[in-house]
Amino acid sequence: MKLLSVIVPCYNEEENIRDFYVELFKNDSFFKKKEIEVEIIYVDDGSSDGTVAEIRKLHEEDERVHLVSFSRNFGKEAAIYAGLQRAKGDMAVMMDADLQDPPALLPEMYGYIEQGYDSVATRRVTRKGEPPVRSFFARMFYRLMNRISRTEIVDGARDYRLMTRQVVDAILAMTEYNRFTKGIFGWVGYETKWLEYENIERKKGETKWSFWKLFVYSLEGITAFSTVPLTMAAVLGALFCALAFGMIVVTIVRTLIFGDPTSGWPSLVCIILLVSGVQLFCLGIVGQYLSKTYMEVKRRPIYLVKEDI
Ligand code: UDP
Ligand code: MG
Repeated sequence: MKLLSVIVPCYNEEENIRDFYVELFKNDSFFKKKEIEVEIIYVDDGSSDGTVAEIRKLHEEDERVHLVSFSRNFGKEAAIYAGLQRAKGDMAVMMDADLQDPPALLPEMYGYIEQGYDSVATRRVTRKGEPPVRSFFARMFYRLMNRISRTEIVDGARDYRLMTRQVVDAILAMTEYNRFTKGIFGWVGYETKWLEYENIERKKGETKWSFWKLFVYSLEGITAFSTVPLTMAAVLGALFCALAFGMIVVTIVRTLIFGDPTSGWPSLVCIILLVSGVQLFCLGIVGQYLSKTYMEVKRRPIYLVKEDI
């Protein structure tokens, strides 16, 4: 018998807990045929609704259901990490509680693991049902990210991923505080098979990601997996120095030839504004990295547990 650990991060998902369980075990005949035992690890990410109660109820009915409950909301990345730490399986899979990651895809995914792939990942090819502005910025983000980072980050990749013990251990070995999961998967490598499917809209409840939350998350992704912005600041600085030298030469020559009529102070104001703007911008970039380093250096725990059953 092989053990499959299913990790489900939940944040205010009370209506979805049971639906997910039912949907997952629709694969029962497949699990039996392939001799796969299943454990579900619901990670409650500090929900304020009845999520924990729902999970506890399920746990009483079925001992394959486990619960880890956080002391507050630590974010999905922390929830995934906690779930992986507790997974005892020979394989692990991560799925959203809202059924946007269809459990019906599992047999196909498992087929590729049998073929020798280390991990099977999914990406959605459409962004149907998403506000157009959000889709636009998401696309821009992936394009930028892949240009400035050596780690491959796939557009539309979901966190729905089936992986072997080896990959799980590799991910657990990355103990950083700033956890940009998509980057971490790309970084560890291993042979990955990508499956594509059409976006499925959330059944119940609503998305926990506001535009602003996504924006901050994307900045985290950039600072976590690329140092190009830092180089950019340096290059910009060098460029401006070169420009200044040129201007100095021009000014000196012009003064020597034409004398020194006092003029051009509007252009001076523009230059001062531009240069100080660039300076502040670069300082901000450095600040971003400094703040991430600061958080890492503190070595704070990634999450705190309130209950673990
Ligand atoms: N989630 C979480 N902590 C958070 C936000 C979300 O554990 O702070 C979980 C959520 O319960 C769901 C999954 O992460 O199971 C994906 O969230 P959501 O469906 O809101 O994101 P979307 O699918 O809209 O990107
Ligand atoms: Mg969702």
